[in-house]
Amino acid sequence: MNKIQVKTHSQSELINLTPEVNKIVQRLGFKEGVCYVYVPHTTAAVTINENADPSVQKDILNELDKIVPWDDRYTHMEGNAAAHIKSTIVGSSVYIPISDGKLALGTWQGIFFCEFDGPRHREVFVQTIKSE
Ligand code: ZN
Repeated sequence: MNKIQVKTHSQSELINLTPEVNKIVQRLGFKEGVCYVYVPHTTAAVTINENADPSVQKDILNELDKIVPWDDRYTHMEGNAAAHIKSTIVGSSVYIPISDGKLALGTWQGIFFCEFDGPRHREVFVQTIKSE
């Protein structure tokens, strides 16, 4: 299995994984299939969204903060309940079709690692399935 090491720099942050996932898919060299990107962490996530205007990433993080504020009457003793909840809302995996040997992302789409309890060292698993 392919792994990507991610070093995050703030408590909440979106990090573009598209170039590294693309590299993995191109190295495998098959034409058609599916790419599965999985985050094995309970306070992080992965999502696909706009890769052109970075203000979209900022808006996503700001609005998630409003929905799930860092301080509230949480019962989780570790103090990072908000990060766990955001991880569940956003989700721990995405699938991207592989077509013509490349990720079949839309023009404006990118794959983003979502840090909700950084800064930390993180890992992302990338698995691919070849179609006949
Ligand atoms: Zn926790």
